Amino acid sequence: MEFKDKVVIVTGASRGIGRAIALEFGSLGARVVVNYNSSADSADEVVQAVKEFGSDAIALQADVSDFDEARNLIQQGIEHFGELHILVNNAGITRDGLIMTMSEDDWDAVAATNLKSTFNCSKAAIRHMMRKRYGRIINITSISGKMGNAGQTNYSASKAGQIGFTKALAREVASRKITVNAVAPGFIETNIWETVPEDIQAGLIDIIPLGRIGAPQEVAKAVAFLASDEASYITGHVLNVDGGMAM
Ligand code: NAP
Repeated sequence: MEFKDKVVIVTGASRGIGRAIALEFGSLGARVVVNYNSSADSADEVVQAVKEFGSDAIALQADVSDFDEARNLIQQGIEHFGELHILVNNAGITRDGLIMTMSEDDWDAVAATNLKSTFNCSKAAIRHMMRKRYGRIINITSISGKMGNAGQTNYSASKAGQIGFTKALAREVASRKITVNAVAPGFIETNIWETVPEDIQAGLIDIIPLGRIGAPQEVAKAVAFLASDEASYITGHVLNVDGGMAM
């Protein structure tokens, strides 16, 4: 896979899975927009790491849950690199809790950051992609959106929403040679996983057929595949990267 002539915007690329996706594309020659919300230093570090591969990158701050900020992010990315081929909607948060204790704010924050951001950024990118008659949109959902997870009504709903969004948009833009797919990670070793108490972590690993949690790089490889020419006949698909958990 090679992305030498491609421009990629990765939301939430300062840490975790987004960081790994930005580095994967950078290592394959793409020019990368590293979006972040608050972690400016980490985003700069990702930019430097991409440049060490000989590729170009820029860090752009934006809260992608905000419609105008998301639109400005996409516009700035396109202005900076002159084009946009691939959008990865990766930014996400958790605010776990049983529904009895979940606040309205916990619901709204997760819905806005995980789902509305996907609409915000895709809407901003799609006009450019339709004009060019080329585009790849990849949404990072979760197996929680397919299986449901107790204590995550907000998160599971937002992730299921991303799957519906992926399929609907895939149908809308297929005639313009734009593909829209989703990647559904299982348990991946990032800050989100580190917030899970150790005894619960052990129980969760027991239910993963491959017997271990995944690495961010393993998710990044799947994203790069779906963005590549090799995946040109795949659209509206949800690819699990979960050690077999949700099969
Ligand atoms: P993470 O390590 O906590 O990193 C989250 C990233 O999202 C950070 O770069 C953060 O930026 C960014 N972000 C958060 N809110 C944002 C906002 N409003 N605007 C822009 N950026 C924002 O999370 P992760 O584990 O890598 O998760 C990445 C994605 O994978 C999420 O969509 C998550 O739901 C999904 N996922 C993760 C797992 C897992 O086990 N880790 C499993 C399934 C799915 P700042 O650093 O600037 O705050």
